[in-house]
Amino acid sequence: MSAAIHCAGLSHSFPMAGERFQVLDQVDLTIERGEMVAIMGPSGSGKSTLMNLIGCLMTPEQGEVRLLGQSTAGMNKARLAQLRRDHVGFVFQQFNLLSRTSALDNVKMPLMYNEAPVEDGDSRARAALESVGLGNRLGHHPSQLSGGQQQRVAIARALVNRPSILLADEPTGALDSVTSEEIMALFRRLNRDGQTVVLVTHEQEVADQADRIILVRDGRIQNRGRGIAL
Ligand code: ADP
Ligand code: MG
Repeated sequence: MSAAIHCAGLSHSFPMAGERFQVLDQVDLTIERGEMVAIMGPSGSGKSTLMNLIGCLMTPEQGEVRLLGQSTAGMNKARLAQLRRDHVGFVFQQFNLLSRTSALDNVKMPLMYNEAPVEDGDSRARAALESVGLGNRLGHHPSQLSGGQQQRVAIARALVNRPSILLADEPTGALDSVTSEEIMALFRRLNRDGQTVVLVTHEQEVADQADRIILVRDGRIQNRGRGIAL
């Protein structure tokens, strides 16, 4: 079966002080279905850029991203959005929830981008919130929830379209260590249930919970085993 994620010769640069700064330089990376992979690396090394390229939020200057065997090369914006919607869930450090909106409505948000109205949107969002342990917080607004609970809402939102790939960019970066552990336990359970999980982290303890650690440095990536200090 095709890999969940396959990047070949991925290169990207940004303008910096009148020149180009090469963030990623010929990156090859394969992540199999059902894997849980942590991406580490110094600040500014291109981890978020790599995630955004994998998740088709950006298109690479050079190289190719394949998701579940489908090449994204040459896809227009609408097609990329469709691919993203159907197969990729995103989780961010800052939760990015709508503040005056209930947990249930936050989780239902991605369903509005589906072509056909989702008839069972309410029950799907409810089920997603139940699956992250928030079945009793459906009507709560973000300000009425702890950081960990807000991140759970964000994870439920990422899952509501039933993607097979979950991308999380420093998902525990804004959380205390106990809450981080809870969120990591949730990612591990989702992974055990078949979800492919890719997460960026600065924390070795978080990364050690993945099957594999990838280090981004100087535009290149290196595979690292678990428990190997950077
Ligand atoms: P990381 O997530 O590892 O901290 P990023 O991928 O966010 O790194 O950024 C890598 C480098 O690219 C940084 O030097 C950053 O300033 C630069 N960069 C990221 N996004 C942009 C952008 N949209 N425009 C210009 N430079 C950017
Ligand atoms: Mg980043």
